[in-house]
Amino acid sequence: MKILLDIGHGGSKKSTGGKVIRDFGAVSQSYKTDEFHWNENFVKNYLIPEFQRNNLEYEIVLRKTGTEELVSDLNKASKTGDIILSFHLNSDIKASGTEVLYWETSVNGKKLAGLLQKKLTEVLKLPDRGIKGRRKPLNSKDALNQRGWTMFKNTKIPFVMMESFFITNNKDMETGNKNIAAMAKAVTEAVLEFREGRK
Ligand SMILES: [Zn+2]
Repeated sequence: MKILLDIGHGGSKKSTGGKVIRDFGAVSQSYKTDEFHWNENFVKNYLIPEFQRNNLEYEIVLRKTGTEELVSDLNKASKTGDIILSFHLNSDIKASGTEVLYWETSVNGKKLAGLLQKKLTEVLKLPDRGIKGRRKPLNSKDALNQRGWTMFKNTKIPFVMMESFFITNNKDMETGNKNIAAMAKAVTEAVLEFREGRK
């Protein structure tokens, strides 16, 4: 089984003024980091060594611009891949906890999301916000709740997005930093269990 790794954000986009800027996702002012750089360190220095120890095959797929190009890159890579793990961090100053997102009708996506949610909440011990199925928004108001739905819908293999904790919450950040190695083990265990279940 080959795993495609999407480190959330990092691509460039046009600002309202027409200037091209890099989008690194949500930011922690206190910890001077952002979604992209936190997850880049997590994936490259913690998760990949763990994958290597377990002989798991992987490929990092980075976004250059918005999600559209990323989806087509992921689909190109998906010819040799089986699942896509997308790494993000949540943002809302008042909230705390762990959630994993999947495409509502994907049986394998839901199964993988459930395993990741279980393993991540075990090590982080932050509020369990549950797994959340994404679907096509019902209207423009609902679109906000379904953030990122086109990625889930348009990727050809199961796509799950981890929002392991809130980057905007200092207590969550401290928990994430302290448990970064355990998180890598948790994600690896979930992937191995998912693979075992598919045999
Ligand atoms: Zn994000």
